[in-house]
Amino acid sequence: MKTHGPIVAVYPGSFDPVTLGHEDVVRRTLRFSDRLIVAVAGFSTQPKRSLFPVAERLEILKEVFGGEPRVECVAFSGLLVDFARDIGARFIIRGLRAVSDFDYEFQMAQMNRELWDEVETIFLTPEVHYSFLSASLVREVAALGGDVSTFVSPLVLQRLKRRFS
Ligand code: ADP
Repeated sequence: MKTHGPIVAVYPGSFDPVTLGHEDVVRRTLRFSDRLIVAVAGFSTQPKRSLFPVAERLEILKEVFGGEPRVECVAFSGLLVDFARDIGARFIIRGLRAVSDFDYEFQMAQMNRELWDEVETIFLTPEVHYSFLSASLVREVAALGGDVSTFVSPLVLQRLKRRFS
């Protein structure tokens, strides 16, 4: 496969809220890409109860990655491959935590390739400390008053405290 020009990748997800696991995946992606678009899905393909509205998740992401000029945070709706093509991203970044992620991620990657055969999905594994971490777990623990300060950045912690105060 020939690559031309800068490597542009898209990292889609619900980011409700962004965790240190997501941040770890972003940092790793920047090791091999020139630009990364962190894309908040306007709707979820998996049944998840949301905590923050999409606009606020985006606001949080922009604050968290504000110091990194190669990262852009946007919201999108519709098919991911259509969005990726529109912004000129041929690489989809996904995180793999455990075997439990594999089934769904594998199906999505194959489907996305069917929909656009020039797209490549790249799976990254996080630092081991984050391999059990999910945004849904953070939401649950925070809602019950537990300490999530080792799983999210201070900015997100503030938002969670405000949300549950
Ligand atoms: P979650 O599954 O935590 O609700 P998202 O839907 O926002 O989060 O996930 C977006 C992508 O980020 C998915 O590919 C997911 O596997 C990955 N991801 C989420 N948390 C982590 C983590 N702790 N380490 C690595 N990848 C992660």
